[in-house]
Amino acid sequence: MPTYTPPARDTRFVLTELLGLADHPHVPVDADLIDTIVAEAGRFAAEVIAPLNRVADEQGCTRHSDGSVTTPSGFREAYRAYVESGWGTLALSEAHGGQGLPHVLATAVEEYLDSACHAFNMYAGLTHGAVAALIAKGSEELTARYLPKLVSGEWLGTMALTEAQAGTDLGLIRTRAEPHPDGSYRLTGEKIFCSGGEHDLTDNIVHLVLARLPDAPDGSRGISLFVVPKVLPDGSRNAVTCGAIEHKMGVHGSATCAMNFDGAAGWLVGQANGGLAAMFIMMNAARLSCGNQGLAQAELAYQNAVAYVSERKQGRAAGSTAPADPLIVHPDIRRMLMDARAFTEGMRALVLWTALQIDLSHRAESELERAAAEALVGLLTPVIKGFGTDKGFETAVAMQQCFGGHGYIAEYGMEQIVRDARVAMIYEGANGVQALDLAARKLARDEGQVAERFLALVEGACDTADGAVRFVAVPLREAVHEAREAARWLIDNAKRDPDALGAGSYAFMELLGRLALGWMWLRMAEIAARKDDPFHAAKLATARYYAERWLPPCATLTRQIEAGAEAMMALRPEQFVRS
Ligand SMILES: Cc1cc2nc3c(=O)[nH]c(=O)nc-3n(C[C@H](O)[C@H](O)[C@H](O)COP(=O)(O)OP(=O)(O)OC[C@H]3O[C@@H](n4cnc5c(N)ncnc54)[C@H](O)[C@@H]3O)c2cc1C
Repeated sequence: MPTYTPPARDTRFVLTELLGLADHPHVPVDADLIDTIVAEAGRFAAEVIAPLNRVADEQGCTRHSDGSVTTPSGFREAYRAYVESGWGTLALSEAHGGQGLPHVLATAVEEYLDSACHAFNMYAGLTHGAVAALIAKGSEELTARYLPKLVSGEWLGTMALTEAQAGTDLGLIRTRAEPHPDGSYRLTGEKIFCSGGEHDLTDNIVHLVLARLPDAPDGSRGISLFVVPKVLPDGSRNAVTCGAIEHKMGVHGSATCAMNFDGAAGWLVGQANGGLAAMFIMMNAARLSCGNQGLAQAELAYQNAVAYVSERKQGRAAGSTAPADPLIVHPDIRRMLMDARAFTEGMRALVLWTALQIDLSHRAESELERAAAEALVGLLTPVIKGFGTDKGFETAVAMQQCFGGHGYIAEYGMEQIVRDARVAMIYEGANGVQALDLAARKLARDEGQVAERFLALVEGACDTADGAVRFVAVPLREAVHEAREAARWLIDNAKRDPDALGAGSYAFMELLGRLALGWMWLRMAEIAARKDDPFHAAKLATARYYAERWLPPCATLTRQIEAGAEAMMALRPEQFVRS
């Protein structure tokens, strides 16, 4: 059975020592409040939510013949406790019924809940995206009707985008919305893979649905967003039902529903045919949360691997005379544990730093600073989603490897972590699509201006770094050089050959991910070098490991990018079929 201890010391290190939240000029949070939230959220995650994780996996959700869905035992009680203790409303504005605390704090709490039970936290997680879309685009009437109960947690929300023929390419959706004389619409169509589409946690479920108006242009310019509640304002049941739930690899406690809309009443959110913009508001919030899920699963896997390899005795350490030593003495086990530390601690710093940029994009003093913060969030969102979930999964697999055969059987729970972690690489835009978003929208579209601003920021940190952390600054500067070269190559070659961009995009996402974590490690190492205690000494050692092991591959990634698309695209589609 996996156990979970919230990494409170490391979270406090990032929030207070790295980000300086306690005396931040624009996002100040009282130091005692930070400590209280970290401690209380940790206690809630470990004591109330973590015990659900195994049960959720074993029981899954059940759909009944009337279309209703029951969540695993304990979910209803835990959800009630989650709502009562206010964990879902931390960062929502007071004007909307939230607590008005910075997003960066809510993001730290989100990691704990994801580690404790990823499937449970998906119900509330998607609701945050629906709330963001309603705040940004909803009419006064719609927000008055739905926002207070979504914010309070009395109702939960969904994002119903995907259809059988329309996954990545949402321009292909077919669900239709016919205008109704009373100003509402009637929606007809089938959505698949709708997380939390039906459940027993709340009385009402508010679906945010993409559909087409009768005269809509083809493709993504013709999609609109609608609010479709399960229960209508007059208390009657809307014509939206769960037709089936998927039997899937992991996150069994999250009901993944096929939803039928049979002339269901809905209300337009934002402009007609403007659904894509509204959808991106939901998606961007969800993509950052996905990166946090990658981190959370890696952290859970790491903690359990450490416990196992400290106990399990196989083989001897060099020079040992014991019959056998714990696995943790072996360098190859250390390799895996150090990779996991380097990733989780670096990723935690990056996720929280980016969450702080979201706060700054609203709270910084000047328009210029707010816009700069927003641009950096835009650049790093696909990196956090794609790189963060790829490495989160790889970490989960490596930690499973530490268990040998015992990691493969269900008893120790490591195979559940691997199964649960896998989905974050797929949903909210599969990682290949994140890489394309990075290369095409975030890099090539503005000729690399925002990317260059980011690279200059990292380079500046290398230039001014303390001599004591040269061991990170020197290889990091080389990685900046490689990334600049790769960015230039992609921008220049994309004009000549659009496939060149697609062929290099995945390597570019990984390159920026390694670089961004390297930047975090440089900053953490500088802080750690000034302290003299075991926590900071371990940080410094992990920074050294990161510099030696995670930065050198940046050069290889650039060479991969510069290889272009020719060999990758050389075969005709039929040549892939074996004969
Ligand atoms: C457990 C689970 C929960 C989900 N929850 C929700 C939800 O709540 N709401 C919702 O609307 N959807 C949800 N989804 C759907 C999810 O977002 C989609 O599965 C995902 O966006 C990919 O779509 P697809 O499955 O149709 O794959 P496809 O779009 O068919 O893609 C298949 C592969 O092709 C690649 N690909 C696609 N297009 C391109 C391209 N142009 N260039 C290069 N590569 C490309 C992709 O990266 C992917 O690797 C969920 C899915 C799962 C599994």
